[in-house]
Amino acid sequence: MNILAVETSCDETSVSIVKDGSKILSNIIASQVEIHARYGGIVPEVASRQHILTIVPVAERAFEEAGVSMKQVDAIAVTVGPGLAGSLIVGVNFAKALAIANSLPVIGINHLEGHIYANWLTESNPELPCLCLVVSGGHSDMILMEDHGRYRKLGSTRDDAAGEAFDKGARILGLPYPGGPAIQAATMGVLTSISLPRAWLRESDDFSFSGVKTALLHLVQGKDSPDQTWIKETAAAFQDAIVDVLVSKTIQAAARLNVRQILLAGGVAANSALRSRFLVDSPVPVLIPPTILCTDNAAMIASCAYYHYQTGTRDEVELDVIPGLTFGNGKSGR
Ligand code: ZN
Repeated sequence: MNILAVETSCDETSVSIVKDGSKILSNIIASQVEIHARYGGIVPEVASRQHILTIVPVAERAFEEAGVSMKQVDAIAVTVGPGLAGSLIVGVNFAKALAIANSLPVIGINHLEGHIYANWLTESNPELPCLCLVVSGGHSDMILMEDHGRYRKLGSTRDDAAGEAFDKGARILGLPYPGGPAIQAATMGVLTSISLPRAWLRESDDFSFSGVKTALLHLVQGKDSPDQTWIKETAAAFQDAIVDVLVSKTIQAAARLNVRQILLAGGVAANSALRSRFLVDSPVPVLIPPTILCTDNAAMIASCAYYHYQTGTRDEVELDVIPGLTFGNGKSGR
């Protein structure tokens, strides 16, 4: 069964064709990161206009690379939320047009649930129940996945998402946008003696990253003429503080819940310090998708839609965007 998926929730235009929920036939991603970098962050208006320009060429390439025609597609999947309204609208309308023109079912997918399914696109074969850590520029959620379509949110960030904290921290340090990759590049092989505070919030599975960001700001403001070595060591301390909290709290929750595996998902799961800390410290197996499947892509949306399709999920052509869509409380991901 071939599912064509469309993902335009933020600043990546992606179209993918996936066979049987796990075999990627094509996964084309047009990133706008360079366009938004000059503004120091994503400009929603610019993002939606760019999606309009790129969606058709991206879809054409997805067909070309997969070597399948529209007639060989069995269903259309699309991200309906959460995300930027203007960006989501482009993808949803494109997907609905394809579905109507070709008399195919359309399935709306929660972007965050999609991130988790990046783990079904690898050889790793996840075992349920598992504990999912979904970390990105907009979210830092700890979610118990009991079965396909059955989730329980254990905790989330009370202020900044991990990726957002990396962006803000990079700006404070004078490093470029996006902050996560910039901080990772600056801290490669750097050992630091600087320590920044961690907010443990021990009574819950929630996270908080605003305190460490403020501590970083005070540290930088109190330093006269910081040199490159100091900047790198400070960036390493900032990254350590965020990674330490994410890894320690997730491993503690996994032990408490007695889960078989931990699944990482979302753009921040591409961070090499986070990946290696998890692999070293976790007593249970940790599945981490390859970097290209951690950041936004349509293949993960196609994989998620495959499992929804199996349980009979179909949406009507009235399907609409839900920019503030939540995740993790209830039976379905939507
Ligand atoms: Zn995402």
